[in-house]
Amino acid sequence: IKNQVKLSLLSINENVSFARAAAAAFSAQVDLTITDIDEIKVAVSEAVSNAVIHGYGGNNHKQNFIELVMNLYRDKLEFFIIDFGKGIANIEEARQPSFSSDPERMGLGFVFMDSFMDELEIISKLGQGTTVKMVK
Ligand code: ATP
Ligand code: MG
Repeated sequence: IKNQVKLSLLSINENVSFARAAAAAFSAQVDLTITDIDEIKVAVSEAVSNAVIHGYGGNNHKQNFIELVMNLYRDKLEFFIIDFGKGIANIEEARQPSFSSDPERMGLGFVFMDSFMDELEIISKLGQGTTVKMVK
């Protein structure tokens, strides 16, 4: 491993843009295109916004934290977005394009993460939380 940053963010909307900026800053250590950095920014902010909205149900209780862990290896960047919220009952279903548990939403967050990153892994336990791992 060449570098690692771990951030703990209160689960509020303001920290979605903070996480996006942090991911861009971390990615700037690598020689990536602007497009790659833009894709990382979208993927990380989609995952963090899911944690805020779905993981913690939009409830910004002061004990609801999201962890953002960023690892740099010789030739890859790894991002972990971790919440300790309600978890995802059916991961296959959640990953489907247009699936959302909220009729007001588009259901495209995981589709963006999947298409913009080289790897997307979702680990979730009901009542315990969700970890999204992405590699670029
Ligand atoms: P959009 O991202 O387009 O605003 P969305 O958030 O509903 O809509 P996805 O990001 O693809 O769509 O997520 C699909 C579904 O997976 C969500 O509707 C929600 O039910 C579930 N989900 C995603 N992330 C989490 C999470 N961290 N905790 C609990 N449920 C989640
Ligand atoms: Mg989403």
